[in-house]
Amino acid sequence: MPNNYGYADYAARLDAETACPCCGADRNITWGLDPAADSGREDMMIAAYDCGATFQSTARGIAAGDPCPASANVAAQMLTYEAQMNARDAAKGRAA
Ligand SMILES: [Zn+2]
Repeated sequence: MPNNYGYADYAARLDAETACPCCGADRNITWGLDPAADSGREDMMIAAYDCGATFQSTARGIAAGDPCPASANVAAQMLTYEAQMNARDAAKGRAA
């Protein structure tokens, strides 16, 4: 199968993503969807979301710009729970 993917394919796919694909936050701005209207610029589209994540579409594909903090927030909460469980276990050990 020939590789005929191009900027327009990736830009159209990213444009359809009106919410952050990681956490669902609303998209707040999109730049460069129509690079033909901005002559002299390399084809690139950027979508930004309320969570702070950005995704970039170029002729080579879609890449993460600024990462969505959702997974970092989940990891931080898991570390918090783990610390609480460790403290509880330690308190039980001291009481026994
Ligand atoms: Zn997000």
